[in-house]
Amino acid sequence: MPPAIVSPALTQTLALSLLGAIPALVLGILVGPAWGWALMALVVFLQLLNALRYFARLERWSRNPQPTAELEGAGAWDEVFSRLYRHEKELRSAIATRDADLAMVESAGQAIVDGIVTLDIDNRISWCNKVAEKQLGLDLRSDRGQPIANLVREPAFVAYLTGGNYRLPLRLSAPHNPELMLSIHLLPYAGGFRLMQARDVTQSERLDRMRRDFVANVSHELRTPLTILGGFLETVRELELTPAEHERYLGLMADQSDRMLRIVQDLLMLSALESAPKPGNDRVRMVALLEKLKADAVALSAGKHEITLDADSVDILGAESELASAFGNLISNAVRYTPAGGRIDISWKRCGTSAEYAVTDDGIGIAPEHIPRLTERFYRADNGRSRESGGTGLGLAIVKHALTRHQATLDIASRPGNGSRFSALFPPARLVD
Ligand code: ADP
Repeated sequence: MPPAIVSPALTQTLALSLLGAIPALVLGILVGPAWGWALMALVVFLQLLNALRYFARLERWSRNPQPTAELEGAGAWDEVFSRLYRHEKELRSAIATRDADLAMVESAGQAIVDGIVTLDIDNRISWCNKVAEKQLGLDLRSDRGQPIANLVREPAFVAYLTGGNYRLPLRLSAPHNPELMLSIHLLPYAGGFRLMQARDVTQSERLDRMRRDFVANVSHELRTPLTILGGFLETVRELELTPAEHERYLGLMADQSDRMLRIVQDLLMLSALESAPKPGNDRVRMVALLEKLKADAVALSAGKHEITLDADSVDILGAESELASAFGNLISNAVRYTPAGGRIDISWKRCGTSAEYAVTDDGIGIAPEHIPRLTERFYRADNGRSRESGGTGLGLAIVKHALTRHQATLDIASRPGNGSRFSALFPPARLVD
């Protein structure tokens, strides 16, 4: 009992005892000592009964301590009860605050875009967020307390975990999804504990691979004409050629240099499309533009194809040079991949509130397995024909970029031997009647 309680309790007990003792003394003198003692015993008994009543109340409360009014008492008991009541209340409020803090920390952990796993000194899982559950195939409810090496068993990961050198992260395919590339970093804290961070690097890994492939492709594309050009130069320099032969070799060399120039121009166009700010909202007169592109196609075809144009008078808001390049590429592809005598239809039509640009040919067509990859840089369904007809393998990549910048979607429908249809659907926001 705290000292402050001793004196009121003692005073109360003494006062009550005294209160009982005086009438008992008077009764003992007046009626007889037996009556006096009997009254005294009654007083003590009543005090004991009172103490027992409060004790029972305290015992009942201690089984399920709640800061409720049940703990009310009188005198010194009231003091004890209200202290217990206050203590219980403070304790509960401290626990509630700590629970709220813990919940905040936990929801901050859940908000992190990386996977987070906390490990104890024996590398057992103490907590992980939902991202980590998904990335690593964990389930916190059943895996809490499990050694992480039992659940993520990749030898490279186990070696990293036990090796103790966490200066650099580890690159790892996700255990249940080889497509997902993770960068795992262990960060020691508070002595032997570890925080494991798993970052999804699939996208950056893919970009790295694309960049490497792109450099290799560009080098390859330029090396071929350069090698041919070098060979011709050597021939012209070292052999005695007739003027006619000389002229022919110069022509062949000019073809190779044209080819390199086209590749470089297309690459520059692509890079401009990638880095340029959003296309403006200039009004592009579609009928005039398509008539000009049709005239270019007629010149390219040199009378080998029947070319038609059917255009509604709907204009586009955007960048004319980009749209001309996209539409022109689709038309020149149709000319280049349609044998002589074939037909090419260019159309620009209202489709409800949208509008569709389409180029349809009855040319060689494309096998289905190539279609999803046609807009990749340097991807060709028909290598020989593409090079023969002066293709750079970049045309559809430019088309896709230019259309995407105008919120238009490209659709390709084709069957080998049955021709192709390349169409682009423009959203209402880009159109003016
Ligand atoms: P390229 O310069 O080789 O034509 P593109 O990017 O313009 O490159 O086209 C990619 C590939 O798509 C071409 O190599 C060709 O195989 C195929 N292709 C494009 N348009 C047509 C078409 N109208 N008909 C058949 N194949 C086509």
